[in-house]
Amino acid sequence: MTTVRLLLGDQLNPEHPWFDRVEPTVLYVLMEVRSETDHVLHHAQKVLAIFAGMRRMAAQLEARGHRVHYTAIGAPDNAQGFEENLRRILAETGATRFEHQEPDEWRLDRALEAFRRGCGLPSSVVSAEHFLDGREGLSTHFHGRGGRWMMESYYRAMRVRTGLLMAADGKPEGGAWNFDHENRKPWKGAPAAPRPWDMAHDHRALWAEIEAAGVRTFGAPSASCFPWPVDRAEALAQLDAFLERGLPGFGDFEDAMHSTSDRLFHSRLSFALNVKLLSPREVAEAAIARHQADPARHPLAATEGFVRQIIGWREYIRGVYWARMPGYATSNALGHDLPLPAWFWTGEVRMNCMRHSVGQSLETAYAHHIQRLMVLGSFCLTAGVAPAEVERWYLGVYIDAFEWVEMPNVLGMSQYADGGLLATKPYCCAASYVSKMSDYCRGCAYDPKDRLGERACPLNALYWDFWLRHAERFGDNPRVGMAARQAAAMSDADKTAIRAKAAALRARIDEL
Ligand SMILES: Cc1cc2nc3c(=O)[nH]c(=O)nc-3n(C[C@H](O)[C@H](O)[C@H](O)COP(=O)(O)OP(=O)(O)OC[C@H]3O[C@@H](n4cnc5c(N)ncnc54)[C@H](O)[C@@H]3O)c2cc1C
Repeated sequence: MTTVRLLLGDQLNPEHPWFDRVEPTVLYVLMEVRSETDHVLHHAQKVLAIFAGMRRMAAQLEARGHRVHYTAIGAPDNAQGFEENLRRILAETGATRFEHQEPDEWRLDRALEAFRRGCGLPSSVVSAEHFLDGREGLSTHFHGRGGRWMMESYYRAMRVRTGLLMAADGKPEGGAWNFDHENRKPWKGAPAAPRPWDMAHDHRALWAEIEAAGVRTFGAPSASCFPWPVDRAEALAQLDAFLERGLPGFGDFEDAMHSTSDRLFHSRLSFALNVKLLSPREVAEAAIARHQADPARHPLAATEGFVRQIIGWREYIRGVYWARMPGYATSNALGHDLPLPAWFWTGEVRMNCMRHSVGQSLETAYAHHIQRLMVLGSFCLTAGVAPAEVERWYLGVYIDAFEWVEMPNVLGMSQYADGGLLATKPYCCAASYVSKMSDYCRGCAYDPKDRLGERACPLNALYWDFWLRHAERFGDNPRVGMAARQAAAMSDADKTAIRAKAAALRARIDEL
């Protein structure tokens, strides 16, 4: 009697109930396959991090007495796809049962479901025991409520349901649900940016294996000083370091960007969370515990802001994914069709903000939320880049990019491609925002104050042209109607000049 249990590369939670007991009849199967590395072009660090995490997980399970079957990327019998490998392993081991955990990605969910039904063995799928809410939780929350889906409404329900940051009288701790208005400061060098809490692994041998297997990647592998956590102990150490050093400034500087720090006060915990080395509940609880122990050092505004990202946005985004897939993938409500500029793959662009944000992404596989949303995303949105091209780039480049979280963030929040299901407004900006929230404009080849001149920052004409193009759609939107109406109220001559400038920028978008 052998039960084969498949573990995917983002199912690295050693605390899963599967592992509570050592069962000699259970064989845990992990495999590194080209079907996963190749379905989109990935950043080198992402492939490294997932494979390194899988290998560490396999070794730790074996050390605890579990039986493990591991297929490395270069193994001669690796057929490079889940189904083919599983069929072989089930036959070779004389398996009598097949089990897997619920995948987070629609594509894999369907593929494994089909495999399970067709494998000819008794089988089951169990929860990955990670998220606070079920796949359908968001749809259920909004069922029968009509109107738009608002993250804030769902977040409050999650606070009540989990009891996190709730006072004994059932009211939100501190008397308010949200302290975001306190969280919008630019960062000018003080308080000092926290010392980074990165790891330094040597993954050169693994990188050589990946390259020898012919896996195509982009970006810097950083294999000799690899920064991402690959097991739970490392992830817990990073959580601890972030809470101590980053959380105190997280709220105030959540929207700030600076050329001297790639993360400022952000946690860089998304990889550890998304591969399930950490659970969202423990991360939120740990932040709240710091606040309770020392509210002066870990203020409520910072703690609430952080907790909202984890139990609010993260769960909300996942709910949108499961409610709207598979159709969501082709969303393009604004009909945008420009190709992604070539410099997204090289970082060779004269706009300082883009050079920093793209360059950092290629170098580190990481950018924080505002770089993703208000620099890179805003540029693509206002320029009119095809959302599917933007989405594939984000899926490939970021260490934490798994489709369930990346796709709604890109298509919904950043590109408004779902027509406003997820976001209540298009998130876009002109150069004044970048100039206020970062130091990127300093020394830039372009002038952030100019709209139309030779040296005018491209963000300006693209921004106003965006509102001109979509004035009708957004004129009544209470959050951005003002910008759309301002654009509509321009003189005909101004409109013509903005449109001509934006068209010229689009025509030479690869040379900005
Ligand atoms: C266009 C775009 C693409 C994005 N793609 C991804 C992605 O592929 N994978 C991903 O995990 N996040 C994505 N995000 C959300 C967010 O930008 C990242 O989670 C965050 O930058 C990761 O860095 P951090 O761990 O330092 O986050 P912190 O700022 O420290 O936030 C803490 C945690 O909150 C969670 N979180 C915060 N915002 C979001 C959000 N909008 N959606 C889901 N979780 C959130 C993350 O788990 C994050 O680790 C994207 C956002 C945008 C605007």
